[in-house]
Amino acid sequence: MIRHLLFSLLFMPLLICAQVTSHETLLLMGSRFDITTVGAGAGAEEGYNAMAIAEIQRIERLISSWDPNSQTSAINAAAGDHPVKVDAELFGLIQRALGLSRLTDGAFDISYASMDRLWRFDGSMKAMPEADNIAASVARVGFDKIVLDEAKRTVFLPEAGMKIGFGAIGKGYAADRARQLLEKAGCKAGIINASGDLTAWGRQPSGEDWKVAITNPLNKEKAFAWLPVNGRAIVTSGNYEKFVRFNGTRYAHIIDPRTGYPSTGIISVTVLAPSTELADALATSVFVMGVDTGLDFINQIPNVDCIIVDEDNHLHTSGSIDLQTTYQHD
Ligand code: ADP
Ligand code: MG
Repeated sequence: MIRHLLFSLLFMPLLICAQVTSHETLLLMGSRFDITTVGAGAGAEEGYNAMAIAEIQRIERLISSWDPNSQTSAINAAAGDHPVKVDAELFGLIQRALGLSRLTDGAFDISYASMDRLWRFDGSMKAMPEADNIAASVARVGFDKIVLDEAKRTVFLPEAGMKIGFGAIGKGYAADRARQLLEKAGCKAGIINASGDLTAWGRQPSGEDWKVAITNPLNKEKAFAWLPVNGRAIVTSGNYEKFVRFNGTRYAHIIDPRTGYPSTGIISVTVLAPSTELADALATSVFVMGVDTGLDFINQIPNVDCIIVDEDNHLHTSGSIDLQTTYQHD
Protein backbone atom coordinates (compact mmCIF):
# COMPACT_ATOMS: atom_id res chain seq x y z
CA MET A 1 0.00 0.00 0.00
CA ILE A 2 2.75 2.41 0.99
CA ARG A 3 4.74 1.39 -1.99
CA HIS A 4 1.73 1.97 -4.16
CA LEU A 5 1.25 5.45 -2.72
CA LEU A 6 4.91 6.26 -3.22
CA PHE A 7 4.59 5.13 -6.75
CA SER A 8 1.65 7.44 -7.37
CA LEU A 9 3.33 10.37 -5.67
CA LEU A 10 6.48 9.91 -7.63
CA PHE A 11 4.65 9.73 -10.89
CA MET A 12 2.08 12.39 -10.22
CA PRO A 13 4.25 15.34 -11.20
CA LEU A 14 5.12 13.52 -14.39
CA LEU A 15 1.48 12.98 -15.17
CA ILE A 16 0.63 16.60 -14.50
CA CYS A 17 3.44 17.78 -16.77
CA ALA A 18 2.71 15.29 -19.52
CA GLN A 19 2.04 17.28 -22.61
CA VAL A 20 -0.31 16.33 -25.35
CA THR A 21 0.01 17.32 -28.97
CA SER A 22 -3.09 17.84 -31.03
CA HIS A 23 -3.21 18.25 -34.77
CA GLU A 24 -5.87 19.54 -37.12
CA THR A 25 -5.89 20.07 -40.89
CA LEU A 26 -8.54 22.10 -42.65
CA LEU A 27 -9.24 24.44 -45.53
CA LEU A 28 -9.16 28.12 -44.54
CA MET A 29 -8.59 31.18 -46.76
CA GLY A 30 -8.73 28.84 -49.74
CA SER A 31 -5.61 27.03 -48.51
CA ARG A 32 -4.69 24.04 -46.41
CA PHE A 33 -3.95 24.96 -42.80
CA ASP A 34 -2.23 22.55 -40.42
CA ILE A 35 -2.57 23.51 -36.79
CA THR A 36 -0.57 21.73 -34.12
CA THR A 37 -0.83 22.70 -30.47
CA VAL A 38 0.71 21.36 -27.31
CA GLY A 39 -1.32 21.45 -24.11
CA ALA A 40 -1.65 19.80 -20.75
CA GLY A 41 -4.26 17.32 -21.94
CA ALA A 42 -7.90 17.05 -20.87
CA GLY A 43 -8.99 18.71 -24.09
CA ALA A 44 -6.95 21.91 -23.68
CA GLU A 45 -5.33 21.44 -27.07
CA GLU A 46 -8.65 21.02 -28.87
CA GLY A 47 -9.70 24.30 -27.28
CA TYR A 48 -6.56 25.96 -28.61
CA ASN A 49 -7.17 24.56 -32.09
CA ALA A 50 -10.74 25.85 -32.11
CA MET A 51 -9.48 29.28 -31.00
CA ALA A 52 -6.94 29.41 -33.84
CA ILE A 53 -9.53 28.35 -36.41
CA ALA A 54 -12.05 30.95 -35.25
CA GLU A 55 -9.38 33.66 -35.44
CA ILE A 56 -8.32 32.72 -38.98
CA GLN A 57 -11.97 32.64 -40.10
CA ARG A 58 -12.53 36.06 -38.55
CA ILE A 59 -9.55 37.48 -40.48
CA GLU A 60 -10.72 35.83 -43.68
CA ARG A 61 -14.15 37.49 -43.36
CA LEU A 62 -12.43 40.86 -42.90
CA ILE A 63 -9.75 40.80 -45.60
CA SER A 64 -10.76 38.30 -48.28
CA SER A 65 -11.28 39.79 -51.73
CA TRP A 66 -13.32 36.68 -52.63
CA ASP A 67 -15.94 37.29 -49.95
CA PRO A 68 -18.34 39.93 -51.32
CA ASN A 69 -19.19 41.01 -47.76
CA SER A 70 -15.61 41.74 -46.66
CA GLN A 71 -14.25 45.23 -46.13
CA THR A 72 -11.69 44.56 -48.87
CA SER A 73 -14.52 43.88 -51.32
CA ALA A 74 -16.17 47.14 -50.22
CA ILE A 75 -12.92 49.02 -51.02
CA ASN A 76 -12.68 47.33 -54.43
CA ALA A 77 -16.34 47.98 -55.26
CA ALA A 78 -15.86 51.69 -54.50
CA ALA A 79 -12.79 52.09 -56.74
CA GLY A 80 -12.90 55.30 -58.76
CA ASP A 81 -15.87 56.48 -56.74
CA HIS A 82 -15.43 57.00 -53.02
CA PRO A 83 -13.20 56.22 -49.99
CA VAL A 84 -14.30 53.43 -47.66
CA LYS A 85 -13.98 53.46 -43.88
CA VAL A 86 -12.40 50.26 -42.53
CA ASP A 87 -11.46 48.65 -39.21
CA ALA A 88 -8.16 49.68 -37.66
CA GLU A 89 -6.92 46.14 -38.22
CA LEU A 90 -7.40 46.21 -42.01
CA PHE A 91 -6.12 49.79 -42.19
CA GLY A 92 -2.94 48.69 -40.38
CA LEU A 93 -2.48 45.72 -42.72
CA ILE A 94 -2.81 47.98 -45.77
CA GLN A 95 -0.36 50.52 -44.28
CA ARG A 96 2.20 47.77 -43.71
CA ALA A 97 1.59 46.35 -47.22
CA LEU A 98 2.31 49.80 -48.71
CA GLY A 99 5.46 49.99 -46.58
CA LEU A 100 6.53 46.65 -48.07
CA SER A 101 5.85 48.00 -51.57
CA ARG A 102 8.18 50.92 -50.89
CA LEU A 103 10.80 48.60 -49.40
CA THR A 104 10.67 46.27 -52.42
CA ASP A 105 10.42 49.04 -54.99
CA GLY A 106 6.99 47.81 -56.07
CA ALA A 107 7.89 44.11 -56.48
CA PHE A 108 5.31 43.48 -53.76
CA ASP A 109 2.06 45.26 -54.52
CA ILE A 110 -1.43 44.46 -53.19
CA SER A 111 -2.91 46.31 -56.18
CA TYR A 112 -1.54 43.49 -58.42
CA ALA A 113 -5.13 42.22 -58.19
CA SER A 114 -6.35 44.51 -60.99
CA MET A 115 -3.92 43.02 -63.51
CA ASP A 116 -5.57 41.64 -66.64
CA ARG A 117 -5.29 37.89 -66.71
CA LEU A 118 -3.22 37.49 -69.86
CA TRP A 119 -1.16 34.56 -68.62
CA ARG A 120 -2.37 31.09 -67.87
CA PHE A 121 -0.13 28.55 -66.23
CA ASP A 122 -2.23 25.42 -66.72
CA GLY A 123 -0.69 24.40 -70.04
CA SER A 124 -3.44 26.00 -72.14
CA MET A 125 -1.39 28.98 -73.45
CA LYS A 126 -0.08 28.49 -76.98
CA ALA A 127 1.56 31.86 -77.68
CA MET A 128 3.17 34.64 -75.72
CA PRO A 129 0.85 37.65 -75.23
CA GLU A 130 1.61 40.77 -77.33
CA ALA A 131 4.05 43.22 -75.70
CA ASP A 132 1.48 46.06 -75.94
CA ASN A 133 -1.15 43.96 -74.20
CA ILE A 134 1.31 43.02 -71.47
CA ALA A 135 2.16 46.68 -70.88
CA ALA A 136 -1.54 47.61 -70.84
CA SER A 137 -2.37 44.80 -68.39
CA VAL A 138 -0.74 46.65 -65.49
CA ALA A 139 -2.25 50.08 -66.25
CA ARG A 140 -4.39 50.11 -63.11
CA VAL A 141 -1.73 48.56 -60.88
CA GLY A 142 0.24 50.87 -58.61
CA PHE A 143 0.51 50.91 -54.84
CA ASP A 144 1.40 54.61 -54.91
CA LYS A 145 -2.06 55.46 -56.27
CA ILE A 146 -3.80 54.10 -53.14
CA VAL A 147 -5.02 56.94 -50.92
CA LEU A 148 -5.08 56.36 -47.16
CA ASP A 149 -6.59 58.87 -44.76
CA GLU A 150 -5.31 58.01 -41.31
CA ALA A 151 -7.56 60.46 -39.43
CA LYS A 152 -10.74 59.20 -41.10
CA ARG A 153 -9.34 55.66 -41.42
CA THR A 154 -10.45 55.41 -45.04
CA VAL A 155 -8.99 53.69 -48.08
CA PHE A 156 -9.55 55.00 -51.60
CA LEU A 157 -8.65 53.39 -54.90
CA PRO A 158 -8.84 56.41 -57.22
CA GLU A 159 -9.27 54.64 -60.57
CA ALA A 160 -12.25 52.55 -61.61
CA GLY A 161 -11.16 48.92 -62.00
CA MET A 162 -8.40 49.17 -59.38
CA LYS A 163 -8.40 46.27 -56.91
CA ILE A 164 -6.42 45.10 -53.95
CA GLY A 165 -5.86 41.53 -52.71
CA PHE A 166 -3.89 39.93 -49.90
CA GLY A 167 -2.90 36.68 -51.63
CA ALA A 168 0.77 37.16 -50.78
CA ILE A 169 0.46 38.42 -47.19
CA GLY A 170 -2.92 37.38 -45.76
CA LYS A 171 -2.07 33.80 -44.83
CA GLY A 172 1.08 34.97 -43.08
CA TYR A 173 -0.84 37.64 -41.19
CA ALA A 174 -3.51 35.14 -40.12
CA ALA A 175 -0.86 32.67 -38.92
CA ASP A 176 0.81 35.39 -36.82
CA ARG A 177 -2.47 36.46 -35.25
CA ALA A 178 -3.55 32.93 -34.45
CA ARG A 179 -0.21 32.26 -32.80
CA GLN A 180 -0.37 35.48 -30.74
CA LEU A 181 -3.86 34.63 -29.56
CA LEU A 182 -2.85 31.12 -28.49
CA GLU A 183 0.25 32.33 -26.69
CA LYS A 184 -1.87 34.83 -24.78
CA ALA A 185 -4.29 32.05 -23.88
CA GLY A 186 -1.42 30.09 -22.35
CA CYS A 187 -0.58 27.67 -25.13
CA LYS A 188 3.14 27.12 -24.65
CA ALA A 189 3.98 25.46 -27.95
CA GLY A 190 2.60 24.87 -31.40
CA ILE A 191 2.87 25.26 -35.13
CA ILE A 192 0.60 27.05 -37.54
CA ASN A 193 1.34 26.03 -41.11
CA ALA A 194 -0.69 27.82 -43.77
CA SER A 195 0.31 25.89 -46.91
CA GLY A 196 3.99 26.61 -46.45
CA ASP A 197 3.64 29.81 -44.41
CA LEU A 198 4.78 28.53 -41.05
CA THR A 199 5.23 29.90 -37.57
CA ALA A 200 6.24 27.79 -34.58
CA TRP A 201 6.72 28.59 -30.92
CA GLY A 202 7.90 26.74 -27.84
CA ARG A 203 9.29 23.24 -28.13
CA GLN A 204 8.07 19.78 -28.93
CA PRO A 205 6.88 17.80 -25.89
CA SER A 206 10.20 15.91 -26.15
CA GLY A 207 12.03 19.18 -25.42
CA GLU A 208 13.48 19.43 -28.91
CA ASP A 209 13.10 22.43 -31.21
CA TRP A 210 10.48 22.14 -33.90
CA LYS A 211 12.13 21.34 -37.19
CA VAL A 212 10.94 22.22 -40.65
CA ALA A 213 11.78 20.19 -43.72
CA ILE A 214 12.89 22.16 -46.74
CA THR A 215 12.02 19.96 -49.69
CA ASN A 216 13.59 19.79 -53.07
CA PRO A 217 10.91 21.13 -55.42
CA LEU A 218 11.83 18.61 -58.08
CA ASN A 219 11.64 15.70 -55.67
CA LYS A 220 9.08 16.56 -53.06
CA GLU A 221 9.42 13.20 -51.33
CA LYS A 222 12.92 14.05 -50.20
CA ALA A 223 13.86 16.82 -47.79
CA PHE A 224 17.29 18.28 -48.47
CA ALA A 225 17.53 20.12 -45.19
CA TRP A 226 15.88 20.27 -41.80
CA LEU A 227 15.83 23.74 -40.27
CA PRO A 228 15.31 24.10 -36.55
CA VAL A 229 12.78 26.91 -36.06
CA ASN A 230 13.92 29.14 -33.28
CA GLY A 231 11.36 31.88 -33.01
CA ARG A 232 11.47 32.84 -36.67
CA ALA A 233 8.77 32.23 -39.25
CA ILE A 234 9.53 30.25 -42.39
CA VAL A 235 7.63 30.78 -45.62
CA THR A 236 8.10 28.98 -48.90
CA SER A 237 6.68 30.40 -52.07
CA GLY A 238 6.73 28.43 -55.24
CA ASN A 239 4.54 26.31 -57.36
CA TYR A 240 6.53 23.95 -59.51
CA GLU A 241 3.65 22.88 -61.69
CA LYS A 242 2.49 26.37 -62.53
CA PHE A 243 4.70 27.78 -65.27
CA VAL A 244 4.75 28.30 -69.01
CA ARG A 245 7.68 28.14 -71.44
CA PHE A 246 8.18 30.36 -74.50
CA ASN A 247 11.38 30.56 -76.59
CA GLY A 248 13.33 28.66 -73.98
CA THR A 249 12.31 30.94 -71.08
CA ARG A 250 10.43 29.48 -68.14
CA TYR A 251 7.83 31.95 -66.82
CA ALA A 252 6.62 31.29 -63.26
CA HIS A 253 3.12 32.02 -61.97
CA ILE A 254 4.04 35.14 -60.00
CA ILE A 255 3.84 38.22 -62.21
CA ASP A 256 5.92 41.38 -61.79
CA PRO A 257 3.28 44.03 -61.06
CA ARG A 258 5.53 46.71 -62.58
CA THR A 259 5.88 45.12 -66.02
CA GLY A 260 3.14 42.50 -66.38
CA TYR A 261 5.77 39.84 -67.18
CA PRO A 262 5.95 36.68 -65.08
CA SER A 263 9.07 36.17 -63.00
CA THR A 264 11.82 34.03 -64.45
CA GLY A 265 14.76 32.06 -63.12
CA ILE A 266 13.30 30.91 -59.80
CA ILE A 267 11.48 27.74 -58.83
CA SER A 268 11.04 28.38 -55.13
CA VAL A 269 11.93 30.89 -52.44
CA THR A 270 12.06 30.20 -48.71
CA VAL A 271 12.28 33.23 -46.41
CA LEU A 272 13.02 33.22 -42.67
CA ALA A 273 11.90 36.36 -40.86
CA PRO A 274 10.71 37.49 -37.43
CA SER A 275 7.06 37.43 -38.53
CA THR A 276 5.12 35.22 -40.93
CA GLU A 277 3.51 38.27 -42.50
CA LEU A 278 6.92 39.71 -43.41
CA ALA A 279 8.30 36.36 -44.57
CA ASP A 280 5.21 35.79 -46.74
CA ALA A 281 5.46 39.16 -48.48
CA LEU A 282 9.23 38.93 -48.93
CA ALA A 283 9.07 35.42 -50.43
CA THR A 284 6.79 36.71 -53.17
CA SER A 285 8.99 39.81 -53.59
CA VAL A 286 12.19 37.79 -54.05
CA PHE A 287 10.38 35.70 -56.65
CA VAL A 288 9.65 38.87 -58.60
CA MET A 289 13.17 40.31 -58.13
CA GLY A 290 15.03 37.25 -59.40
CA VAL A 291 18.07 35.50 -57.90
CA ASP A 292 20.69 38.28 -57.86
CA THR A 293 18.55 41.26 -56.88
CA GLY A 294 16.61 39.08 -54.44
CA LEU A 295 19.73 37.91 -52.61
CA ASP A 296 21.20 41.43 -52.49
CA PHE A 297 17.93 42.71 -51.10
CA ILE A 298 17.58 40.05 -48.40
CA ASN A 299 21.22 40.47 -47.36
CA GLN A 300 20.46 44.08 -46.43
CA ILE A 301 17.67 43.23 -43.98
CA PRO A 302 18.75 42.21 -40.47
CA ASN A 303 17.33 38.95 -39.14
CA VAL A 304 15.89 37.97 -42.51
CA ASP A 305 17.32 35.15 -44.61
CA CYS A 306 16.40 33.28 -47.73
CA ILE A 307 17.04 30.09 -49.66
CA ILE A 308 16.36 30.22 -53.39
CA VAL A 309 16.10 27.25 -55.74
CA ASP A 310 16.76 28.40 -59.30
CA GLU A 311 15.36 26.82 -62.45
CA ASP A 312 18.48 24.68 -62.84
CA ASN A 313 17.80 23.35 -59.36
CA HIS A 314 20.77 25.18 -57.85
CA LEU A 315 20.57 26.54 -54.32
CA HIS A 316 21.36 30.15 -53.43
CA THR A 317 21.40 31.28 -49.81
CA SER A 318 21.66 34.69 -48.20
CA GLY A 319 24.82 35.59 -46.29
CA SER A 320 24.05 34.17 -42.88
CA ILE A 321 22.70 30.82 -44.07
CA ASP A 322 25.12 28.00 -44.59
CA LEU A 323 23.20 24.90 -45.53
CA GLN A 324 26.37 22.80 -45.61
CA THR A 325 27.31 23.27 -41.99
CA THR A 326 24.22 24.50 -40.23
CA TYR A 327 21.61 22.03 -41.34
CA GLN A 328 21.40 18.30 -41.28
CA HIS A 329 20.88 16.57 -44.60
CA ASP A 330 19.03 13.33 -44.64
P1 ADP B 1 2.44 30.69 -53.57
O1 ADP B 1 2.27 30.12 -52.19
O2 ADP B 1 1.33 30.38 -54.54
O3 ADP B 1 3.76 30.45 -54.18
P2 ADP B 1 2.74 33.48 -52.69
O4 ADP B 1 2.73 33.53 -51.22
O5 ADP B 1 4.00 33.89 -53.35
O6 ADP B 1 2.19 32.15 -53.34
O7 ADP B 1 1.60 34.43 -53.17
C1 ADP B 1 1.11 34.36 -54.46
C2 ADP B 1 -0.19 35.10 -54.48
O8 ADP B 1 0.06 36.46 -54.14
C3 ADP B 1 -0.80 35.14 -55.86
O9 ADP B 1 -1.67 34.06 -56.03
C4 ADP B 1 -1.50 36.46 -55.85
O10 ADP B 1 -2.73 36.34 -55.16
C5 ADP B 1 -0.62 37.32 -55.02
N1 ADP B 1 0.44 38.05 -55.75
C6 ADP B 1 1.02 37.70 -56.91
N2 ADP B 1 1.99 38.57 -57.25
C7 ADP B 1 2.01 39.51 -56.29
C8 ADP B 1 2.81 40.67 -56.08
N3 ADP B 1 3.76 41.01 -56.93
N4 ADP B 1 2.57 41.40 -54.98
C9 ADP B 1 1.60 41.05 -54.11
N5 ADP B 1 0.84 39.98 -54.25
C10 ADP B 1 1.02 39.19 -55.32
MG1 MG C 1 3.97 35.17 -50.26
